[in-house]
Amino acid sequence: MTETCERWSIALEQERQGELAPEERAALERHLAGCARCTAERADIASLAEGLAAPVAPGGGWDDLRSRIERVQRRRQREIGIGIAAAVAVGAALLLVRGKLVGTVFDPFGSGLVAGMTFAIVVAGGAVWLAARRTARALPGTDLIAGIRRQYDRRIRGTRFFALWGPIYLAFLAVTASPRLFGTGTASVVARAALVAVAIVGAFNAWFRVIPKLRRELRELEGK
Ligand SMILES: [Zn+2]
Repeated sequence: MTETCERWSIALEQERQGELAPEERAALERHLAGCARCTAERADIASLAEGLAAPVAPGGGWDDLRSRIERVQRRRQREIGIGIAAAVAVGAALLLVRGKLVGTVFDPFGSGLVAGMTFAIVVAGGAVWLAARRTARALPGTDLIAGIRRQYDRRIRGTRFFALWGPIYLAFLAVTASPRLFGTGTASVVARAALVAVAIVGAFNAWFRVIPKLRRELRELEGK
C-alpha cells in the first residue's frame, strides 16, 4: 500500500454513497487501473455494501475530512522519519560499542532474559508502528470516522502498554546489569537510579504528552 492509497479509500466511500464528483471519479478510475489493492477494496465494498447500514457523513463534509487526514498524515510521516533517524543513530552507537556490550554489560544469564524481553518489546513496538501507519485508513465500506476512532483507540492502548512496561523493563535492567557496566559503590547506585528516573520520565511523557496528543489528533480528525 502506498501512502497515496489513503485518500482513495475516501473516494471509494464517496463512490459507494453516490457522492463522488465526476472529475474525482475519473481520477479514481486512473488510480484503480494501476492499483490492485484499491481495486480489491472496491470489490470488498461492493460485496459488503448490501449488508451495511447507511453510513454517517463526516462533520464538515468529505473534502474537509480529506484535508484533515492529510494534515495528520504529513505530521505522522515527519515523526516516523525522526523516529527512524533516532533508531539508526542509537543502533550505530550500539554497533560501535558492541565489543564492550557482549559478555560485558550483561551477565550470561541476564543477557538471555534481556534479549527475550527486548524481542518482545520490539515486536510490540512494530505492531504499534504498523497501526500508526494505518492511521486514517478506513476499513472497506465502513463508517470512516468509526474506523479511524478504532485505530486511535488501538494506538492509545499500545502507548499505555509501553508506559507501563517500559519502566518495569528498565528497572529490571538497572537491577540486573553487571557491575562492569555501572561500577560499584555510590557511582553505581546513582547510575542505576538514573536509569530508573529515565524510565519514569518516559512513562510520564507517554501518559501526559503522547496520549493527550493522540486524543487531540483524533478530535481533529473527527472535526470536533
Ligand atoms: Zn491504491
